[in-house]
Amino acid sequence: MLKNRPILEIKNITKKFNTSDNKVLTACNDVSLEFEEGKILGIVGESGCGKSTLMKMIIQLEDPTSGEILYEGEDITKLKGEKLRQNRRHIQMVFQDPSTAFNPRMKVKDIICEPLLNFKLIKKKQRDEVAKKYLNMVDLPESFADRYIHNMSGGQRQRIGIARALSLDPKVVILDESTSALDVSIQKNIIELIKKLQKEKNITIGFVCHDISLMSEISDKVAVMYLGNLVEVVPGRQLKNGCKHPYTQALISSVFHLNMDFSKEIENIKDEAPSPIDMPKGCPFENRCKYSMEVCKKEKPKLKLISKDHHVACHLNKER
Ligand code: SF4
Repeated sequence: MLKNRPILEIKNITKKFNTSDNKVLTACNDVSLEFEEGKILGIVGESGCGKSTLMKMIIQLEDPTSGEILYEGEDITKLKGEKLRQNRRHIQMVFQDPSTAFNPRMKVKDIICEPLLNFKLIKKKQRDEVAKKYLNMVDLPESFADRYIHNMSGGQRQRIGIARALSLDPKVVILDESTSALDVSIQKNIIELIKKLQKEKNITIGFVCHDISLMSEISDKVAVMYLGNLVEVVPGRQLKNGCKHPYTQALISSVFHLNMDFSKEIENIKDEAPSPIDMPKGCPFENRCKYSMEVCKKEKPKLKLISKDHHVACHLNKER
């Protein structure tokens, strides 16, 4: 598959938070990643691995401690005032739970059109017409324009969230666990909708999820995070059978599927992840890795290119 130009480049992003007891928590540790234009980049990892913090920095809800985020070549972490506000049009987010993200007193047409009104891209009297256009786009009836979001199912609410995110015609859309709270059948419909819209509009998508099997179905490329670090970046089609990092392999082997042999022991990842307040000196996965070697305790492995479009941070893998 041909590589598209990067529309968004994360360069050496680190995010640290001060805790109430004067310690420092590292949520993202020197992460570099490219979002190719018109492709889906999946970001996967356990809760607390830093994936949502990274996405919040991309949509400028959080400032990085260091590093750059380039959108179309410009470092958006330096933007201020009106330039910052205008940049928000290009990168939009769909949240996990739209019922908490939106004002329950607003009608669906107001939720969808609010960003357009804020940017003065439409007039108030155009709301009905514009809302119907976006309801059609996300396969919902036009009559929903006058409903309230609490009268809708989880899948319908998530479609409204997608319609609102698309209303500003963004180039990049971040979906942060946007399908996680939905039933599996509804989840499938939403995924199909996302893929359809992505192709029609050539949108770049960042798909944040902890479900690694879903990730391999939807993503062109998958970035695996562990304890704030990027440990593997692999083409989506290679994720299941070609991943090389022991953490990614452990995530894959712990996925349940209908044809699995339940007489065999299910492989669990042993121990707990270390605290992000007390990051290990060597490999962040060392205390849980069954292949751990002496070097892993002392030296943090760098993310290396090991084959075409495949990067791994592990001492077991040689640089190409
Ligand atoms: Fe395991 Fe060592 Fe590779 Fe870390 S660097 S994943 S401890 S083998």
